[in-house]
Amino acid sequence: KLYNQVQDLKGNIRVYCRIRPFLPGQASRLNPVEDVDDRTIEIATTSKHGKGKKSFTFNKVFGPSAKQEEVFADTQPLIRSVLDGYNVCIFAYGQTGSGKTHTMTGPKELTQESMGVNYRALNDLFQITEQRKDTISYDISVQMIEIYNEQVRDLLATDDVINLMNLGHKNRAVGSTAMNDRSSRSHSCLTVHVQGKDLTSGAVLRGCMHLVDLAGSERLDKTEAVGDRLKEAQHINKSLSALGDVIASLAQKQTHVPYRNSKLTQLLQDSLGGQAKTLMFVHISPEHDALGETLSTLKFAERVS
Ligand code: ADP
Ligand code: MG
Repeated sequence: KLYNQVQDLKGNIRVYCRIRPFLPGQASRLNPVEDVDDRTIEIATTSKHGKGKKSFTFNKVFGPSAKQEEVFADTQPLIRSVLDGYNVCIFAYGQTGSGKTHTMTGPKELTQESMGVNYRALNDLFQITEQRKDTISYDISVQMIEIYNEQVRDLLATDDVINLMNLGHKNRAVGSTAMNDRSSRSHSCLTVHVQGKDLTSGAVLRGCMHLVDLAGSERLDKTEAVGDRLKEAQHINKSLSALGDVIASLAQKQTHVPYRNSKLTQLLQDSLGGQAKTLMFVHISPEHDALGETLSTLKFAERVS
C-alpha cells in the first residue's frame, strides 16, 4: 500500500542498478566502478583531460555483495501488486556476462539461497493467494516465450509452473549450444496472468506480470559483424532501442509512445504505461575491460529514468 502511494508520487518507472562481483580468478585491482551509497555509483574514467569521475543515481543500487534475497525484497511489493490488479514489467538489461540471468533466474546450480526473481516471485504469489483463499479465488497461468530475430517462440504454455519454468529455461539453453550462445542473443519473457474473484462481491480483477531477461546490450566487434551475427545484432539493437524509446517517452510523459517499433514493445504494450508499473534492473560488470559497455549501459539507464 505504502509502496503504491510512493509510486504514484514518483511515477511508475523505477531503475535499479546491480553491480556483479568479480568472478573467481578475476583481478579486482582495476575496478573502475564504485557503489558510493545505496542510490549512487561512481565510475572512474580517464580521458585526454586526465582522470575523472562520473556519478549516476538510481532508485536503488545493489553492490557486488548484495544477496538474491535482498534484491528480491526490494522487488516484492511490485510483484505483489499484480494480485491487486496491476500490470507489471520487470526487465534485466546489460551486456552479456553482467548478471541478468543471475538476477532473474539464478546461477546454473540453483539453491534456495541463489534463486532469482522469477522463482521467488512465483513462490510469493502462490503463498499470498493461499493466504487469501477464503476471500479471493485466484487463477494463475504462466507463459514463457523467447524473442529471437524479431520472431516469437513459445518455450512453454501451461500451468505446472515451477517444473515447466525449469523446462522453459532448459529449452532456452538447448538453443544456445546449437546456435552461438543464443540465450544472450534473444529476449526471454516469463509472463504470469492473474485473475482474482472476490468471493463475497463477485468482482473480478486481472493483473499481469512480465519478467524479461533481455538480450545482451553489447555492441558487436567490427570483425564479428557479418552474416547471422550481424543480423542478430541489428535486431537486438533495434529492439533494445525501441524499448528505451518507449520507457523514455513514458518517463517524460509524452503523448505519443512508439510501441510499434519492435516485437518486444508490441507484446508488452498493455503492461507498459498507464497504470502499469515498470522496473528496470541495469546490470554492470565490474572489470576495467567492460568500461565502454558499462558507460553505455548507464547512459541507457539515465535515459529511461
Ligand atoms: P548475463 O545473463 O547477463 O549474460 P549471467 O547472469 O549469466 O550474465 O552472469 C555471468 C556469470 O556471473 C555467471 O557465471 C553468473 O553465475 C555470475 N554472476 C552474475 N551475477 C552474480 C552475482 N550477483 N553474484 C555471483 N555471481 C554472479
Ligand atoms: Mg543471460
